[in-house]
Amino acid sequence: MSAVLAPTARLTEAKEPSALARRLSATAVSLDLFERLAAARAAIGGTLVFTTSFGLEDQAIGHAILSQRLDVELVTLDTGRLFPETHDVWAETERRYGRRIRAIVPDRRELETLIERQGSDGFRASVDARRACCHVRKVTPLNRALAGADAWITGLRADQSEHRADVAFASVDGARGLIKINPLFDWTRERAADFTREYGVPVNALHERGFLSIGCAPCTRAVAPGEPERAGRWWWESEGKTECGLHANPLHLAARAAHKAAQS
Ligand code: SF4
Repeated sequence: MSAVLAPTARLTEAKEPSALARRLSATAVSLDLFERLAAARAAIGGTLVFTTSFGLEDQAIGHAILSQRLDVELVTLDTGRLFPETHDVWAETERRYGRRIRAIVPDRRELETLIERQGSDGFRASVDARRACCHVRKVTPLNRALAGADAWITGLRADQSEHRADVAFASVDGARGLIKINPLFDWTRERAADFTREYGVPVNALHERGFLSIGCAPCTRAVAPGEPERAGRWWWESEGKTECGLHANPLHLAARAAHKAAQS
């Protein structure tokens, strides 16, 4: 392993979180996945949270965390609209590693209000309706999952879409006050698939059926060969958006949601 960074104080107390992120990013380039996660754990004090959707990339990261028994919280956002196959790989992963993965569910009152307002599948009516659903089922639960965290580990890859082209190993999420760690930032999908095969990691059965990026069942479809990876997410929207808001500025999203709520 290359040089491991010295442990820091909690990020909230660190004077130079952006310098720490730069140091981590520079160090990570030459490390394998196991080493990258171990280096992040060693360098960042406090709580590290890994949010998994049990997709290919997250399963690779989960294996590297769980097989090394790293002190990292594993969390999933149970939106209430996940595929049965996602629940299957969730259960299989818990059995394989003997570890419970914490589920964060939407706030009951917010969800009831959303369904009252837009109906069960009202997210198809407009981009704003879809964003409102993602906000209640995903963004607000994510904010709860990350409350008090010093770092957030995600499965983002730079080559997934143009929205993600600038993804680095480590960056500062100033709105949330934490360091974001993307250990697969420079990986391809094929490399993640090879990793899961090499280590016998459980994967979502939907991948074999053309589902590349897997989210909620009503908002995910299989993609044809040659289509962009995230073309199967919210494909009916004309704006070409393929993000749900989890990786956007949460303060901006909160302000937008409040604005829309005031208008409705
Ligand atoms: Fe709602 Fe679809 Fe977003 Fe899931 S992906 S939270 S069902 S709009």
